Amino acid sequence: MAKQKCGFATKAIHVGQEPDPLTGAVSAPIYPTSTYVQQEIGKNKGYEYARVSNPTRDRLETNLAALEGGISARVFGSGMAAINAITSMLKAGDHVVAGHNLYGGTPRLFNQVLTNFGLTFTYVDTSDLQKVEKAFRKNTRLLFVETPTNPLMELCDLSAIAELSHQHKVELVVDNTFTSPYFQRPIEFGADMVVHSTTKFLNGHSDGLGGVVVCTRREQAEKLAFLQKCAGAILSPFECWLILRGVKTLAVRMEQHDQSGRKVAAYLAQHKKVKRVFYPGLPDHPQHELAKRQMTGFGSMITFETGSLANANGMLRKVRVCSLAESLGGVETLISHPATMTHAGVGEEGRRKIGITDGMVRISVGIENVEDILADLDQALAAS
Ligand SMILES: *Cc1c(COP(=O)(O)O)cnc(C)c1O
Repeated sequence: MAKQKCGFATKAIHVGQEPDPLTGAVSAPIYPTSTYVQQEIGKNKGYEYARVSNPTRDRLETNLAALEGGISARVFGSGMAAINAITSMLKAGDHVVAGHNLYGGTPRLFNQVLTNFGLTFTYVDTSDLQKVEKAFRKNTRLLFVETPTNPLMELCDLSAIAELSHQHKVELVVDNTFTSPYFQRPIEFGADMVVHSTTKFLNGHSDGLGGVVVCTRREQAEKLAFLQKCAGAILSPFECWLILRGVKTLAVRMEQHDQSGRKVAAYLAQHKKVKRVFYPGLPDHPQHELAKRQMTGFGSMITFETGSLANANGMLRKVRVCSLAESLGGVETLISHPATMTHAGVGEEGRRKIGITDGMVRISVGIENVEDILADLDQALAAS
């Protein structure tokens, strides 16, 4: 049966995850080797050196390309290394338009490293198509967006923004880390490339870093393979295996994340001490209708306003089931303070401009019993 045509959960478990032809092992073998023996000059089994290719990595790349609906995927040592691979496809003089509210590490890479190599960046609110169009220049090559954004949970209309980009001969890149391909597949809406920090939902167990770029055209696939080989920011075979194992349960994990996320968002929305909740699954989210159109679930990323740094700290020091930590997308509930953690590097002025306050708390709802998460939030908020 052509597994590429199966449902999502079946693909996650079987594409690239075929039993080992040598032994029948149902779990993919890990190949910790740096090099491969050759039969004679110019004759080998398709593998020469592990920076260029590794069988465990090949399996993961096949799997992730299928889950996002791309033609090819390439994995890197972290989400940031994957984003850096995309920008390495550009050249000095090229211009990039990017969302104004991205994961904090992304503008840090753009502004503090890549501008030194002659790339220029303009940041706009990508929920506003007119602003995006105005930002395009003759030399704009990429539009880089997140939807929903981190931590404000703002959406951009993927099919509209893909169409606009293509009219201007700009490639659309979507960082799809927050929803995973289970709830949103940007390539189906016209995106040219999708990037993930596999560290988050795809791996799902908070035990390994990684990144992937999924692409839609042969030239992109060739360039990305070339960049893996040239720049060498590859993912180790063991980390590849962790993600292969993690994605086997992606569908059931995401279903649970979504169910619990909705319950936690509803709880927070009615709490007297919570001033505002940012979650696309709430009917009063300004883009709730758009969320229903382009996402098949709302996920478990929620941001809420406690009113002040003191209130945020008051509750964050009391949590016991939730862990105060950076990162997201694990089976365990992680709670964080964007202003001093993920978005510290954006600076006070930068945060003020886009609306990240000192009282904001971001929660990545895990898959523990939701009553325990709610009880924990309840006692922590009572103490704040
Ligand atoms: C974490 C994250 C990244 C960076 O990924 P790393 O694996 O930490 O390098 C990029 N984008 C988003 C949306 C993230 O959450």
